[in-house]
Amino acid sequence: MPLFGRKKSEDPSALRWSREPLPPTPEPGPDGLRSMEDHRDYLLSCLTELPPFSQHLLDALDLSICEDVYSAIDMPRFDNSAMDGYAVRAVDVAAASAEHPVSLPVVGEVAAGQDALDRLSPGTAIKIMTGAPLPPAADAIVPYENTDRGASDVRVFAPSVVSQHVRYVGEDIRAGSQLFAAGAQLGPRDVGLLAAIGRDTVLVRPRPRVAVVSTGSELVEPGQELGHAHQIYDSNSTMLAAAAKAAGAQVYRVGLVSDDPESVLQVISDQLVRADLILSTGGVSQGDYDVVKAVLPQLGETDFTAVAMQPGKPQGFGLIGDDRVPMIMLPGNPVSAFVSFEAFVRPAIRKLMGVTPYTRPVVRCRATHDFGSAPGKRQLARGIVSLDADGGRLVELAGGHGSHLLGDLARANAIIVLGEDVTQVATGDDVDVWLLDEVS
Ligand code: AMP
Ligand code: MG
Repeated sequence: MPLFGRKKSEDPSALRWSREPLPPTPEPGPDGLRSMEDHRDYLLSCLTELPPFSQHLLDALDLSICEDVYSAIDMPRFDNSAMDGYAVRAVDVAAASAEHPVSLPVVGEVAAGQDALDRLSPGTAIKIMTGAPLPPAADAIVPYENTDRGASDVRVFAPSVVSQHVRYVGEDIRAGSQLFAAGAQLGPRDVGLLAAIGRDTVLVRPRPRVAVVSTGSELVEPGQELGHAHQIYDSNSTMLAAAAKAAGAQVYRVGLVSDDPESVLQVISDQLVRADLILSTGGVSQGDYDVVKAVLPQLGETDFTAVAMQPGKPQGFGLIGDDRVPMIMLPGNPVSAFVSFEAFVRPAIRKLMGVTPYTRPVVRCRATHDFGSAPGKRQLARGIVSLDADGGRLVELAGGHGSHLLGDLARANAIIVLGEDVTQVATGDDVDVWLLDEVS
Protein backbone atom coordinates (compact mmCIF):
# COMPACT_ATOMS: atom_id res chain seq x y z
CA MET A 1 0.00 0.00 0.00
CA PRO A 2 1.92 3.12 -1.13
CA LEU A 3 1.70 6.04 1.27
CA PHE A 4 1.77 8.78 -1.29
CA GLY A 5 0.84 9.29 -4.87
CA ARG A 6 -2.65 7.89 -4.84
CA LYS A 7 -4.86 9.50 -7.42
CA LYS A 8 -7.98 11.34 -6.40
CA SER A 9 -11.00 9.84 -8.05
CA GLU A 10 -13.12 12.46 -9.82
CA ASP A 11 -16.05 10.14 -10.24
CA PRO A 12 -16.50 7.44 -7.62
CA SER A 13 -18.49 5.27 -9.97
CA ALA A 14 -15.42 5.15 -12.24
CA LEU A 15 -13.34 3.67 -9.43
CA ARG A 16 -11.77 0.40 -10.43
CA TRP A 17 -10.10 -2.10 -8.19
CA SER A 18 -8.50 -5.43 -8.71
CA ARG A 19 -11.56 -7.32 -7.49
CA GLU A 20 -9.22 -9.67 -5.75
CA PRO A 21 -11.57 -11.04 -3.08
CA LEU A 22 -11.06 -10.66 0.64
CA PRO A 23 -9.46 -13.60 2.40
CA PRO A 24 -12.03 -16.21 3.47
CA THR A 25 -14.03 -14.99 6.46
CA PRO A 26 -14.16 -16.95 9.74
CA GLU A 27 -16.93 -19.48 10.23
CA PRO A 28 -19.74 -18.10 12.40
CA GLY A 29 -20.87 -19.95 15.52
CA PRO A 30 -24.07 -22.04 15.64
CA ASP A 31 -26.06 -18.86 16.34
CA GLY A 32 -24.82 -17.39 13.06
CA LEU A 33 -22.69 -14.81 14.87
CA ARG A 34 -18.94 -14.32 14.55
CA SER A 35 -16.97 -14.18 17.80
CA MET A 36 -15.29 -10.92 18.74
CA GLU A 37 -11.83 -12.52 18.64
CA ASP A 38 -12.47 -14.08 15.22
CA HIS A 39 -13.56 -10.74 13.82
CA ARG A 40 -10.57 -8.92 15.28
CA ASP A 41 -8.13 -11.58 14.08
CA TYR A 42 -9.72 -11.44 10.65
CA LEU A 43 -9.35 -7.66 10.37
CA LEU A 44 -5.77 -7.81 11.59
CA SER A 45 -4.95 -10.55 9.08
CA CYS A 46 -6.13 -8.23 6.29
CA LEU A 47 -3.78 -5.40 7.37
CA THR A 48 -0.06 -5.01 6.86
CA GLU A 49 2.30 -2.77 8.82
CA LEU A 50 3.07 0.55 7.14
CA PRO A 51 6.46 0.74 5.46
CA PRO A 52 9.17 2.44 7.52
CA PHE A 53 10.20 6.06 7.07
CA SER A 54 13.10 8.09 8.39
CA GLN A 55 11.73 10.61 10.89
CA HIS A 56 13.23 13.30 13.07
CA LEU A 57 13.57 12.14 16.64
CA LEU A 58 10.69 14.15 18.08
CA ASP A 59 8.37 12.93 15.34
CA ALA A 60 9.45 9.37 16.12
CA LEU A 61 8.09 9.51 19.68
CA ASP A 62 5.73 6.57 20.40
CA LEU A 63 6.52 4.98 17.04
CA SER A 64 8.01 1.58 16.35
CA ILE A 65 11.69 1.60 15.42
CA CYS A 66 12.56 -0.37 12.29
CA GLU A 67 16.33 -0.63 12.58
CA ASP A 68 18.87 -2.06 15.01
CA VAL A 69 20.83 0.84 16.49
CA TYR A 70 24.42 0.55 17.66
CA SER A 71 26.28 3.33 19.42
CA ALA A 72 29.03 4.88 17.32
CA ILE A 73 30.61 6.46 20.40
CA ASP A 74 31.56 5.65 23.97
CA MET A 75 29.46 7.30 26.65
CA PRO A 76 30.93 9.06 28.51
CA ARG A 77 33.28 9.90 25.65
CA PHE A 78 36.12 10.80 28.05
CA ASP A 79 36.88 10.56 31.77
CA ASN A 80 35.24 13.56 33.43
CA SER A 81 34.12 15.04 36.73
CA ALA A 82 30.73 14.27 38.27
CA MET A 83 30.96 17.27 40.64
CA ASP A 84 32.10 20.86 40.86
CA GLY A 85 35.27 20.78 42.98
CA TYR A 86 38.95 19.96 42.70
CA ALA A 87 40.72 17.25 40.74
CA VAL A 88 43.36 15.62 42.95
CA ARG A 89 45.37 12.47 43.44
CA ALA A 90 43.41 10.53 46.11
CA VAL A 91 46.63 9.61 47.86
CA ASP A 92 47.35 13.33 48.51
CA VAL A 93 44.12 13.81 50.49
CA ALA A 94 43.78 10.34 52.03
CA ALA A 95 44.49 11.69 55.54
CA ALA A 96 42.34 14.86 55.32
CA SER A 97 39.76 15.51 58.03
CA ALA A 98 37.91 18.46 59.55
CA GLU A 99 40.45 18.57 62.41
CA HIS A 100 43.47 18.07 60.17
CA PRO A 101 42.70 19.61 56.76
CA VAL A 102 45.13 19.04 53.90
CA SER A 103 46.14 22.17 52.00
CA LEU A 104 47.00 21.93 48.30
CA PRO A 105 48.06 24.67 45.85
CA VAL A 106 45.48 25.22 43.07
CA VAL A 107 47.49 25.16 39.83
CA GLY A 108 44.71 25.57 37.25
CA GLU A 109 41.04 25.40 36.38
CA VAL A 110 39.02 23.40 33.82
CA ALA A 111 35.35 23.78 32.83
CA ALA A 112 33.02 21.59 30.72
CA GLY A 113 33.86 21.95 27.05
CA GLN A 114 37.50 22.91 27.68
CA ASP A 115 40.40 20.68 26.76
CA ALA A 116 42.14 18.73 29.51
CA LEU A 117 45.06 20.54 31.14
CA ASP A 118 48.58 19.38 31.65
CA ARG A 119 49.32 16.48 33.95
CA LEU A 120 48.42 17.04 37.57
CA SER A 121 51.65 17.22 39.59
CA PRO A 122 51.75 15.33 42.90
CA GLY A 123 50.62 17.47 45.86
CA THR A 124 48.55 19.92 43.77
CA ALA A 125 44.89 20.43 42.85
CA ILE A 126 43.06 21.68 39.72
CA LYS A 127 39.69 23.37 40.08
CA ILE A 128 37.19 21.42 37.96
CA MET A 129 33.53 21.81 36.94
CA THR A 130 30.96 19.05 36.36
CA GLY A 131 31.47 17.47 32.94
CA ALA A 132 35.02 18.84 32.51
CA PRO A 133 37.71 16.36 31.42
CA LEU A 134 39.77 14.80 34.19
CA PRO A 135 43.33 16.13 34.04
CA PRO A 136 45.88 13.35 33.40
CA ALA A 137 47.21 11.82 36.64
CA ALA A 138 44.23 13.05 38.67
CA ASP A 139 42.18 10.13 40.01
CA ALA A 140 39.57 11.68 42.32
CA ILE A 141 37.36 14.73 42.65
CA VAL A 142 36.98 16.53 45.97
CA PRO A 143 33.58 18.27 45.83
CA TYR A 144 33.37 21.93 46.86
CA GLU A 145 31.36 20.88 49.88
CA ASN A 146 34.43 19.17 51.40
CA THR A 147 36.70 22.22 50.95
CA ASP A 148 37.05 25.90 51.83
CA ARG A 149 36.64 26.67 48.07
CA GLY A 150 40.10 28.29 48.07
CA ALA A 151 41.34 29.99 44.90
CA SER A 152 45.15 29.83 45.17
CA ASP A 153 45.28 27.13 47.86
CA VAL A 154 42.47 24.83 48.86
CA ARG A 155 41.91 23.26 52.28
CA VAL A 156 40.40 19.78 52.03
CA PHE A 157 38.33 18.59 55.03
CA ALA A 158 37.58 14.98 54.08
CA PRO A 159 39.53 12.07 52.58
CA SER A 160 38.97 10.84 49.02
CA VAL A 161 39.40 7.44 47.48
CA VAL A 162 40.50 6.67 43.93
CA SER A 163 37.70 7.24 41.34
CA GLN A 164 35.51 9.23 43.74
CA HIS A 165 33.14 11.41 41.64
CA VAL A 166 34.90 10.43 38.42
CA ARG A 167 32.84 9.28 35.42
CA TYR A 168 34.90 6.92 33.28
CA VAL A 169 34.90 6.62 29.51
CA GLY A 170 32.41 4.04 28.23
CA GLU A 171 31.05 3.14 31.69
CA ASP A 172 27.51 3.94 30.49
CA ILE A 173 27.64 2.75 26.87
CA ARG A 174 30.47 1.17 24.89
CA ALA A 175 31.03 2.15 21.26
CA GLY A 176 29.66 -0.65 19.09
CA SER A 177 27.11 -1.87 21.63
CA GLN A 178 23.50 -2.41 20.55
CA LEU A 179 21.01 0.07 22.00
CA PHE A 180 17.79 -0.77 20.14
CA ALA A 181 16.37 -3.74 18.29
CA ALA A 182 13.83 -3.26 15.50
CA GLY A 183 10.29 -3.44 16.88
CA ALA A 184 10.72 -1.42 20.08
CA GLN A 185 8.35 1.49 20.68
CA LEU A 186 10.26 4.72 21.27
CA GLY A 187 9.53 6.68 24.46
CA PRO A 188 10.94 10.03 25.60
CA ARG A 189 14.02 8.44 27.20
CA ASP A 190 14.70 6.41 24.06
CA VAL A 191 14.71 9.44 21.76
CA GLY A 192 16.91 11.14 24.37
CA LEU A 193 19.40 8.28 24.14
CA LEU A 194 19.36 8.43 20.33
CA ALA A 195 20.13 12.16 20.54
CA ALA A 196 22.92 11.45 23.04
CA ILE A 197 24.69 9.21 20.53
CA GLY A 198 24.32 11.87 17.85
CA ARG A 199 21.33 10.59 15.87
CA ASP A 200 18.90 13.19 14.53
CA THR A 201 16.67 10.81 12.56
CA VAL A 202 15.58 7.22 12.98
CA LEU A 203 13.75 4.68 10.82
CA VAL A 204 10.23 4.11 12.19
CA ARG A 205 6.78 3.10 11.01
CA PRO A 206 4.82 6.33 10.51
CA ARG A 207 1.58 7.25 12.19
CA PRO A 208 -1.31 5.76 10.18
CA ARG A 209 -3.45 8.44 8.56
CA VAL A 210 -7.00 7.72 9.69
CA ALA A 211 -10.00 9.47 8.09
CA VAL A 212 -13.18 9.48 10.19
CA VAL A 213 -16.64 9.89 8.65
CA SER A 214 -20.05 9.86 10.38
CA THR A 215 -23.09 8.92 8.33
CA GLY A 216 -26.65 9.85 9.18
CA SER A 217 -29.23 12.28 7.81
CA GLU A 218 -30.18 13.22 11.38
CA LEU A 219 -26.69 14.55 12.13
CA VAL A 220 -25.69 18.18 12.59
CA GLU A 221 -22.16 19.50 12.92
CA PRO A 222 -21.44 20.69 16.49
CA GLY A 223 -21.43 24.47 16.61
CA GLN A 224 -24.34 24.68 14.16
CA GLU A 225 -27.97 25.26 15.13
CA LEU A 226 -30.05 22.11 15.52
CA GLY A 227 -32.92 22.30 13.05
CA HIS A 228 -36.07 20.26 13.38
CA ALA A 229 -36.78 18.34 16.57
CA HIS A 230 -35.22 15.05 15.51
CA GLN A 231 -31.80 16.23 14.56
CA ILE A 232 -28.83 15.39 16.81
CA TYR A 233 -25.24 16.51 16.96
CA ASP A 234 -22.60 14.27 15.40
CA SER A 235 -20.53 13.08 18.35
CA ASN A 236 -19.00 9.98 16.78
CA SER A 237 -16.57 11.60 14.38
CA THR A 238 -15.05 13.76 17.12
CA MET A 239 -14.95 10.91 19.66
CA LEU A 240 -13.42 8.40 17.25
CA ALA A 241 -10.97 10.90 15.79
CA ALA A 242 -9.84 11.66 19.35
CA ALA A 243 -9.60 7.96 20.21
CA ALA A 244 -7.62 7.28 17.02
CA LYS A 245 -5.29 10.15 17.82
CA ALA A 246 -4.79 8.81 21.35
CA ALA A 247 -3.99 5.42 19.81
CA GLY A 248 -1.19 7.06 17.78
CA ALA A 249 -2.86 7.88 14.46
CA GLN A 250 -2.70 11.07 12.48
CA VAL A 251 -6.39 11.84 12.09
CA TYR A 252 -8.56 13.61 9.55
CA ARG A 253 -12.02 14.22 10.96
CA VAL A 254 -14.04 14.44 7.78
CA GLY A 255 -17.23 14.99 9.76
CA LEU A 256 -20.70 14.00 8.70
CA VAL A 257 -22.37 12.91 5.52
CA SER A 258 -26.10 12.33 5.05
CA ASP A 259 -27.61 8.92 4.26
CA ASP A 260 -27.55 9.72 0.56
CA PRO A 261 -25.81 7.00 -1.51
CA GLU A 262 -24.06 9.38 -3.92
CA SER A 263 -22.80 11.59 -1.11
CA VAL A 264 -21.46 8.62 0.84
CA LEU A 265 -19.69 7.24 -2.23
CA GLN A 266 -18.16 10.62 -2.98
CA VAL A 267 -16.98 11.35 0.57
CA ILE A 268 -15.45 7.89 1.04
CA SER A 269 -13.75 7.80 -2.34
CA ASP A 270 -12.30 11.26 -1.65
CA GLN A 271 -10.52 9.84 1.38
CA LEU A 272 -8.74 7.12 -0.58
CA VAL A 273 -6.03 9.51 -1.69
CA ARG A 274 -4.82 10.25 1.81
CA ALA A 275 -5.93 7.55 4.24
CA ASP A 276 -4.17 4.44 5.49
CA LEU A 277 -7.42 3.53 7.25
CA ILE A 278 -10.96 4.86 6.86
CA LEU A 279 -13.42 4.72 9.73
CA SER A 280 -17.13 5.26 9.33
CA THR A 281 -20.03 5.10 11.73
CA GLY A 282 -23.68 4.39 11.09
CA GLY A 283 -25.55 2.66 8.35
CA VAL A 284 -24.32 -0.91 8.82
CA SER A 285 -27.29 -2.66 10.43
CA GLN A 286 -30.61 -3.88 9.04
CA GLY A 287 -32.45 -0.54 8.66
CA ASP A 288 -33.90 0.68 5.37
CA TYR A 289 -31.47 3.60 5.33
CA ASP A 290 -28.32 1.66 6.16
CA VAL A 291 -26.49 3.30 3.35
CA VAL A 292 -22.92 2.28 4.13
CA LYS A 293 -23.81 -1.38 3.87
CA ALA A 294 -25.76 -0.71 0.69
CA VAL A 295 -23.20 1.28 -1.29
CA LEU A 296 -19.71 0.37 -0.10
CA PRO A 297 -19.61 -2.83 -2.18
CA GLN A 298 -19.46 -0.46 -5.18
CA LEU A 299 -16.07 0.80 -4.00
CA GLY A 300 -14.27 -2.38 -3.01
CA GLU A 301 -14.38 -5.79 -1.42
CA THR A 302 -16.49 -5.76 1.73
CA ASP A 303 -17.54 -8.00 4.60
CA PHE A 304 -20.63 -7.07 6.61
CA THR A 305 -21.25 -9.34 9.54
CA ALA A 306 -22.91 -9.76 12.92
CA VAL A 307 -20.54 -10.19 15.84
CA ALA A 308 -21.48 -11.93 19.09
CA MET A 309 -20.92 -8.84 21.19
CA GLN A 310 -23.05 -6.29 22.96
CA PRO A 311 -23.05 -3.51 22.06
CA GLY A 312 -21.48 -3.46 18.62
CA LYS A 313 -23.15 -6.38 16.84
CA PRO A 314 -23.27 -5.04 13.24
CA GLN A 315 -19.77 -4.61 11.83
CA GLY A 316 -18.40 -3.90 8.39
CA PHE A 317 -14.94 -4.13 6.86
CA GLY A 318 -13.59 -3.55 3.41
CA LEU A 319 -10.51 -3.10 1.28
CA ILE A 320 -11.52 -0.11 -0.79
CA GLY A 321 -10.40 1.22 -4.16
CA ASP A 322 -7.34 0.42 -6.28
CA ASP A 323 -5.02 0.59 -3.30
CA ARG A 324 -7.23 -1.63 -1.16
CA VAL A 325 -7.36 0.94 1.63
CA PRO A 326 -8.74 -0.75 4.73
CA MET A 327 -12.06 0.62 5.94
CA ILE A 328 -13.76 -0.31 9.20
CA MET A 329 -17.47 0.46 9.28
CA LEU A 330 -18.82 0.76 12.81
CA PRO A 331 -22.40 0.96 14.03
CA GLY A 332 -23.76 4.44 14.71
CA ASN A 333 -24.83 4.25 18.33
CA PRO A 334 -22.10 6.21 20.07
CA VAL A 335 -21.42 3.60 22.75
CA SER A 336 -21.41 0.79 20.16
CA ALA A 337 -19.03 2.82 18.05
CA PHE A 338 -16.70 3.40 20.97
CA VAL A 339 -16.54 -0.19 22.22
CA SER A 340 -16.11 -1.36 18.61
CA PHE A 341 -13.22 1.07 18.32
CA GLU A 342 -11.63 -0.52 21.38
CA ALA A 343 -12.28 -4.06 20.18
CA PHE A 344 -11.22 -3.66 16.54
CA VAL A 345 -9.93 -0.25 15.49
CA ARG A 346 -7.35 0.41 18.17
CA PRO A 347 -5.73 -3.01 17.51
CA ALA A 348 -5.83 -2.21 13.76
CA ILE A 349 -4.09 1.14 14.25
CA ARG A 350 -1.45 -0.50 16.41
CA LYS A 351 -0.87 -3.19 13.80
CA LEU A 352 -0.40 -0.55 11.08
CA MET A 353 2.10 1.16 13.40
CA GLY A 354 3.83 -2.13 14.22
CA VAL A 355 3.28 -1.54 17.94
CA THR A 356 2.58 -4.55 20.14
CA PRO A 357 0.58 -5.79 21.91
CA TYR A 358 -2.25 -4.91 19.54
CA THR A 359 -4.88 -5.41 22.22
CA ARG A 360 -5.22 -3.81 25.62
CA PRO A 361 -3.94 -5.91 28.49
CA VAL A 362 -6.69 -7.53 30.55
CA VAL A 363 -6.63 -6.68 34.25
CA ARG A 364 -8.77 -8.30 36.92
CA CYS A 365 -11.02 -6.13 39.09
CA ARG A 366 -13.42 -7.00 41.92
CA ALA A 367 -17.08 -6.18 41.28
CA THR A 368 -18.61 -3.91 43.94
CA HIS A 369 -22.20 -4.90 43.13
CA ASP A 370 -24.29 -7.50 41.30
CA PHE A 371 -25.11 -7.08 37.63
CA GLY A 372 -26.34 -9.14 34.70
CA SER A 373 -24.93 -9.87 31.25
CA ALA A 374 -26.54 -11.06 28.00
CA PRO A 375 -26.08 -14.80 27.39
CA GLY A 376 -24.26 -15.90 24.23
CA LYS A 377 -22.65 -12.50 23.66
CA ARG A 378 -19.42 -10.88 24.69
CA GLN A 379 -20.61 -8.00 26.84
CA LEU A 380 -18.48 -4.87 26.76
CA ALA A 381 -19.94 -2.96 29.69
CA ARG A 382 -18.66 0.44 30.70
CA GLY A 383 -17.06 0.44 34.14
CA ILE A 384 -15.59 2.74 36.72
CA VAL A 385 -12.45 1.31 38.29
CA SER A 386 -11.18 2.61 41.61
CA LEU A 387 -8.65 1.45 44.20
CA ASP A 388 -9.48 0.12 47.65
CA ALA A 389 -7.41 0.99 50.75
CA ASP A 390 -4.92 -1.78 49.92
CA GLY A 391 -4.50 -0.69 46.30
CA GLY A 392 -6.72 -3.52 44.99
CA ARG A 393 -8.83 -2.69 41.93
CA LEU A 394 -12.60 -2.41 42.30
CA VAL A 395 -15.07 -1.97 39.47
CA GLU A 396 -18.68 -0.83 39.25
CA LEU A 397 -20.94 -0.45 36.24
CA ALA A 398 -21.05 3.06 34.80
CA GLY A 399 -24.83 3.27 34.39
CA GLY A 400 -26.82 0.91 32.21
CA HIS A 401 -26.04 -1.33 29.24
CA GLY A 402 -27.85 0.94 26.72
CA SER A 403 -25.72 1.81 23.71
CA HIS A 404 -27.02 5.39 23.60
CA LEU A 405 -25.77 6.27 27.09
CA LEU A 406 -22.99 8.64 26.15
CA GLY A 407 -22.95 10.40 29.53
CA ASP A 408 -22.19 7.09 31.25
CA LEU A 409 -19.51 6.32 28.66
CA ALA A 410 -17.77 9.60 29.39
CA ARG A 411 -17.85 8.88 33.16
CA ALA A 412 -16.38 5.41 32.65
CA ASN A 413 -12.64 4.73 32.75
CA ALA A 414 -12.76 1.08 31.77
CA ILE A 415 -14.56 -1.56 29.77
CA ILE A 416 -15.70 -4.67 31.62
CA VAL A 417 -15.37 -7.67 29.31
CA LEU A 418 -17.80 -10.45 30.18
CA GLY A 419 -17.69 -13.83 28.45
CA GLU A 420 -20.49 -15.36 26.38
CA ASP A 421 -21.29 -17.80 29.18
CA VAL A 422 -21.61 -15.13 31.89
CA THR A 423 -25.17 -14.11 32.75
CA GLN A 424 -24.68 -12.83 36.26
CA VAL A 425 -21.83 -11.15 38.14
CA ALA A 426 -22.04 -11.17 41.96
CA THR A 427 -20.50 -8.68 44.36
CA GLY A 428 -16.91 -9.74 45.03
CA ASP A 429 -16.45 -11.63 41.73
CA ASP A 430 -13.29 -10.88 39.77
CA VAL A 431 -14.00 -9.71 36.21
CA ASP A 432 -11.81 -8.95 33.17
CA VAL A 433 -11.35 -5.26 32.43
CA TRP A 434 -9.66 -3.10 29.80
CA LEU A 435 -8.42 0.05 31.49
CA LEU A 436 -8.99 3.12 29.34
CA ASP A 437 -7.34 5.58 31.71
CA GLU A 438 -4.78 5.34 34.48
CA VAL A 439 -6.40 4.63 37.83
CA SER A 440 -4.99 6.31 40.92
P1 AMP B 1 -27.25 3.72 12.79
O1 AMP B 1 -26.15 2.75 13.12
O2 AMP B 1 -26.90 4.60 11.66
O3 AMP B 1 -28.54 3.00 12.62
O4 AMP B 1 -27.42 4.64 14.06
C1 AMP B 1 -27.83 4.11 15.30
C2 AMP B 1 -28.13 5.20 16.30
O5 AMP B 1 -26.98 5.97 16.56
C3 AMP B 1 -29.19 6.19 15.86
O6 AMP B 1 -29.96 6.52 17.02
C4 AMP B 1 -28.39 7.37 15.38
O7 AMP B 1 -29.11 8.57 15.47
C5 AMP B 1 -27.23 7.35 16.33
N1 AMP B 1 -26.06 7.92 15.67
C6 AMP B 1 -25.58 7.51 14.47
N2 AMP B 1 -24.49 8.22 14.12
C7 AMP B 1 -24.28 9.10 15.13
C8 AMP B 1 -23.30 10.10 15.35
N3 AMP B 1 -22.35 10.35 14.45
N4 AMP B 1 -23.34 10.81 16.49
C9 AMP B 1 -24.31 10.56 17.40
N5 AMP B 1 -25.25 9.61 17.26
C10 AMP B 1 -25.26 8.89 16.13
MG1 MG C 1 -27.90 5.94 10.57
